[in-house]
Amino acid sequence: MNKSAIAGPSRAGSLPLVGSELALDFTNTSSGRGGLMHKEHLRSADDVVAWARHARVLTPADGQWLAGRIEHDRPVAGELLRRAQDLREVIYAIGTEIARGKRPPAESIDSLARVHADCVARARLVPYGAGFVWAWDPKEAPIETILGPVTLSALTLLTQADLSRVKQCQGDHCGWLFFDTTKNKGRRWCEMEVCGNRAKQRRHQSRKAGARPLTPPAGRGLG
Ligand SMILES: [Zn+2]
Repeated sequence: MNKSAIAGPSRAGSLPLVGSELALDFTNTSSGRGGLMHKEHLRSADDVVAWARHARVLTPADGQWLAGRIEHDRPVAGELLRRAQDLREVIYAIGTEIARGKRPPAESIDSLARVHADCVARARLVPYGAGFVWAWDPKEAPIETILGPVTLSALTLLTQADLSRVKQCQGDHCGWLFFDTTKNKGRRWCEMEVCGNRAKQRRHQSRKAGARPLTPPAGRGLG
């Protein structure tokens, strides 16, 4: 998991948030899993916090405080990275099976439920608008402050959404998950400008080249 086949800085703090659901955006901090073009953007606790700030899981003030805390508290930093990666792969395993029209593995669902229980145990219900929401204090629960909202997003998706809209990008070396909000459920790509256009280019190239082998695809250039 920590091995990144493609070098270069992590883009955790600037990745396109195109999953339409927080939990799916979270899974998209890695791409091309299992292949030579695998990219890993959560390589440190700093990356996890950078993504959470970028995805607005954390307020700017909480993000700044948490970044300072993990700099000085290496055990919390290590635990944050490990638990974030574990949760992400649990959601990814569930999402990819749903995208294939299959029932997600029971052990992944159980893991998600356990993480949710752990997070909720450290949350408080606070007034929000006319109702209430779960909220975490980063000083009391630095890890759950990030994982709690992601887990809630995954659970809400599983329990309340039209799961036939959960899809996986078919682009080479991508594998990003997204919730298709289009009227006709016709979305195929994480981003048309990245994976969609690349596929179009390859089809065009292959028509021009006949049987000639194609140039190897470059992978998710932006991801
Ligand atoms: Zn893609």
